[in-house]
Amino acid sequence: MPSKTDSRLLPLFSQLVGHFAHEPAWWPIHTHDRVFEVTIGMVLVQQTRWEQVEAAVLRLLNAGYTSFDALAHADPIQIGSLCKPCAFYMRKGEALVRLAQRICTTHNQMHAILTLPRHECRRILLSLPQIGRESADTIMLYGGSHPLFIVDAYARRFLHRTGIYRDVVDVINADYDLVQRIVEEDVGQLDVQNARELHAMMVEVCIHHCSATRPRCTQSGAWRRFVDVRKCAEHCPPCSGCPTQSVCAYHLTRIPLTE
Ligand code: SF4
Repeated sequence: MPSKTDSRLLPLFSQLVGHFAHEPAWWPIHTHDRVFEVTIGMVLVQQTRWEQVEAAVLRLLNAGYTSFDALAHADPIQIGSLCKPCAFYMRKGEALVRLAQRICTTHNQMHAILTLPRHECRRILLSLPQIGRESADTIMLYGGSHPLFIVDAYARRFLHRTGIYRDVVDVINADYDLVQRIVEEDVGQLDVQNARELHAMMVEVCIHHCSATRPRCTQSGAWRRFVDVRKCAEHCPPCSGCPTQSVCAYHLTRIPLTE
């Protein structure tokens, strides 16, 4: 566990890891091509639950689409039907084929791109269709080895509710890069395993406890059934609530005052 003593987020990170346990297969990879799997997962996950993404990725792999090259030569309609029931599956099928074609014609060396310095790597990924800042950073963190902080909706929600940066930035509305810089300065230099785990913890706490509409601060975490049985194997048993409830501004302001 990283040990920057004046960090605001690291103590919460430690609590989350203690609660959810380390998950080596948090992003399950089924083939030798991690970059390919992470990239198609990022396109499919937009407005879609992860369970459906997992199933669609496995269908694509089982149908022989295990590389950008295979996908670049595929029929977009067939790819679309393999992506069902992900949201906008026909559009995503077409987008995946277009993205693969672009990667094969313009940037055939995705693996080499991911070894470039962070800003150069990100600039190239952002030039690809379907790849925004969050997707680019996710590919760099999980497909490559860039230890960065992903500012997704889960991270914004958790950081906003706990209130740890409320005197510094409006994490819900602030620019992606600003929030990323503030968090990275706060946690200090992480290795890639810790950076991946920090992102995983932001997602885990939000899907099990800190949901958008009805946070389960003092209730057992919401149950999710994933395709990969290794996911969540350690922390689905009943618990007594969110591990950060004792320091969370949102929760503490909602506890009724007692005599
Ligand atoms: S205590 Fe409640 S509001 Fe705070 S992070 Fe946990 S689930 Fe979210």
